[in-house]
Amino acid sequence: MPKAEQTVLEIDLKALKHNYEYIKSKLHSHTKILAVVKAFAYGSDANAIANYLQNLEVDYFAVAYVSEGVALRDAGIRTPILVLHPQAVNFKTLIERCLEPSLYNAKILNEFITTASQEKQNNYPVHIKFNTGLNRLGFKENDIDYVVSKASETSTIKVKSIFSHLAASEDFNEKAFTEQQIKTFKSISETFSKAIGYQPMLHLTNTSGVLNYPEAHLDMIRTGIGLYGFGNSEEENKNLKPIATLKSVISQIHHIEKGETVGYNRAYKSEGLKKTATIPIGHADGIGRQYGNKKGFVTVNGKKALIIGNVCMDMIMIDITDIECNEGDEVIIFGNHPNASKFAESANTISYEIITAISQRVKRTLLKG
Ligand SMILES: *Cc1c(COP(=O)(O)O)cnc(C)c1O
Repeated sequence: MPKAEQTVLEIDLKALKHNYEYIKSKLHSHTKILAVVKAFAYGSDANAIANYLQNLEVDYFAVAYVSEGVALRDAGIRTPILVLHPQAVNFKTLIERCLEPSLYNAKILNEFITTASQEKQNNYPVHIKFNTGLNRLGFKENDIDYVVSKASETSTIKVKSIFSHLAASEDFNEKAFTEQQIKTFKSISETFSKAIGYQPMLHLTNTSGVLNYPEAHLDMIRTGIGLYGFGNSEEENKNLKPIATLKSVISQIHHIEKGETVGYNRAYKSEGLKKTATIPIGHADGIGRQYGNKKGFVTVNGKKALIIGNVCMDMIMIDITDIECNEGDEVIIFGNHPNASKFAESANTISYEIITAISQRVKRTLLKG
């Protein structure tokens, strides 16, 4: 691995392949894989990730918004793309770029049918989302008749899939709730397919659902975090490899006396002779202020260095008193050890938040497999 000379997010495509194959090994051969590449592929590099997975013949992609789907089409992605949370204002673009909407309530369903008819579409593939307990987006079970009648009175759309989302698939304390969601979804699926007269694809599980509820894999699974190397448990994290390593360098070293302070508002006060280092990464790069003041830490030459004082916009300062190091040495913020999940824990958050927070200012580099 090349030594960092500036702040970089290094993306290991071999690790991505490993994770993809691990998830695939959990599935029946007939179960399709949808790769969730929203939010720049969880803060990594959506174009690179999607291109790589397209070459591995992944079945589907999902993004949150239309603009993300447009970017993928611009990057040469031809695989079907499900847009999980489209807004009506973008429907014309969505159709022009062959993106497939998730339709989750009467308003969005009707708005889509209107635009699709104006655009003279026939059997345009749509995905109907049902709410089975997350209470975020989705029709209720008793909306089935309404959706089916709307979809049947027009030839503009065709229901390609029906799906739902689990609320707590990683939490075994909520097993009964998850099993109830699975049951509700299966019942919705049966009624819906009978009423509409054909069989749309069914999908329900995210990464933790794939790992913990094999009976809920159905026709397709949706995996995001697993592809990027996290399984939402210590056990599953061992089977996966983080694809992204956030690295930086030491810009400057200071030797400070007892009573001197470091950073804005003099938030760190030295209790003795200390050696500190300044690193070119800050809250504008995604390292939030909650990592400051000895909550978060980085790794310098294999040793743990606490972040001291307040996190600045473009810099952090770390305590390297007991670490042999020089200006220009590499600093690891997260990667394999510690992984992003451990780093996130230090500020009371989760892998999903820290990896998607790494701002576009940070250069992405690809390690090819
Ligand atoms: C983001 C998202 C996923 C991916 O979940 P992971 O836990 O990252 O696997 C799946 N389905 C929906 C509806 C999502 O919004």
